[in-house]
Amino acid sequence: MRMQAHRHVNQATRDVRTYMKSCLVAALLCLYMAVLPAQPAGVGAPGQPPPDRYLLIHAGTLLAVPGTSPRAGMTVVVRNDRIAAVEPGYLSTVAGMPPGATLQVIDLSDRFVLPGLMDAHVHLWHEPSFSRHRAERGDRHPLWPGVPGTSAEGAVNAMVYARRNLAAGFTTLRDLGSDDEAVFAVRNAINAGRMIGPRILLAGSSIAVTGGHGDSTPMGQTADASARLANGTCDGPMECRKAVRYQYKLGADVIKFTSTGGFGSNTGLEPQLFPDEIQAIVSTAHLVGLKAAAHAYSPVAIKEAVRAGVDSIEHGFLLDDEGIAMMKKAGTFLVPTLSASYPPPIFRIPDPPSVKLRNQYRAFERAYAAGLKIAFGTDAGTFAHGSNAKEFGLMVGFGMTPMDAIRSATVMTAELFGISAEAGTIEAGKLADIVAVQGNPLENIAVLGNVDFVMKSGRIARQDGRMTEPFSYPPVSE
Ligand SMILES: [Zn+2]
Repeated sequence: MRMQAHRHVNQATRDVRTYMKSCLVAALLCLYMAVLPAQPAGVGAPGQPPPDRYLLIHAGTLLAVPGTSPRAGMTVVVRNDRIAAVEPGYLSTVAGMPPGATLQVIDLSDRFVLPGLMDAHVHLWHEPSFSRHRAERGDRHPLWPGVPGTSAEGAVNAMVYARRNLAAGFTTLRDLGSDDEAVFAVRNAINAGRMIGPRILLAGSSIAVTGGHGDSTPMGQTADASARLANGTCDGPMECRKAVRYQYKLGADVIKFTSTGGFGSNTGLEPQLFPDEIQAIVSTAHLVGLKAAAHAYSPVAIKEAVRAGVDSIEHGFLLDDEGIAMMKKAGTFLVPTLSASYPPPIFRIPDPPSVKLRNQYRAFERAYAAGLKIAFGTDAGTFAHGSNAKEFGLMVGFGMTPMDAIRSATVMTAELFGISAEAGTIEAGKLADIVAVQGNPLENIAVLGNVDFVMKSGRIARQDGRMTEPFSYPPVSE
């Protein structure tokens, strides 16, 4: 309860900060607007908002709220960036459209239309093919050996890969650990409207302990405090609080920590953090109003994270029955990342231990049977970005219904991200994040691998299989 109160107070404080920032921006904007020459009508006269833009999406089959039945022959009315209404039949006009407003009909009457998909676990700054290319050239990160590429390369990667995820129908992504300089720059450019990309929630640098999974600080320089902070490396509760606060200061939307080893680091799968370090990370994240995600394989580490109040367990392959019961009671999400257990062929790993372990413990199947909250997440970045939808096939293959699999990538991810009021379903008032496929994914989940229409916040990113221009070039007045 106490934590809840803190979070509310903190949210209010953030709202005030955001409000004050927007006031400042508005004041500056008004100042500039006052000296701009008058613009022609329709373009948006000074001080007036641009004319309303209406889109009527004719949906052959509409799954507006995953978990409820789809309906045939529906119209989704989009006004600017949001859904204004969802109506039966194919509408061709909008009652009460203000003068000057524009209207466009989008014919998806032969398509299956559903909310924009979300992936709760990606790493946007690289993927195996890029890292291999670098390694084959003999290139090394100038600061951190073993880390693929520079921050600048990471930013270019993140721009390309974010768009590739969007092209695949993923309108919201949660990046759980990337070069922070790289991904913050890309998220900010998208949020500022300079580039059409997916909505991205960022962890910045994943938090790890010295020698732990994700610690890529250079050998011999572990005392370099600034490198440790930038890399999210911490030991002991005080340092770990600081590491969380540092990512918060950079603008993180979520805090990610690696509480056990992982398949990518050869550090085993056992606990690497003490309970007081886990407690420090989770409670500091909650104090500043952020959710916390724990990379965890060992059942001991999973349970310590749940005890500390973590919001999601990532991977969780070795989840035991006690852990399942604790997660169920606490409402903790599992983000299964089944795709991550299958290393891409590029790694040339015969008989991968990750697949063996997954099949031995069947954590996903047991969690689903127990009714745990499951949020779709893939670990894209450990394999090629844009192929995220293969996770749906794995989920359904391991016994989840196609409807629940779609729900896990829409309604459930929105709940985990804390954005249910804004996204996750196609309902009046929400942001217009809409995708379409040929065929019925409730009958054949594989069709989600071929999304050919994508709209994010009312802007068309992909139509008839083609991506629209990524960048916008607003006129600059000086
Ligand atoms: Zn990951």
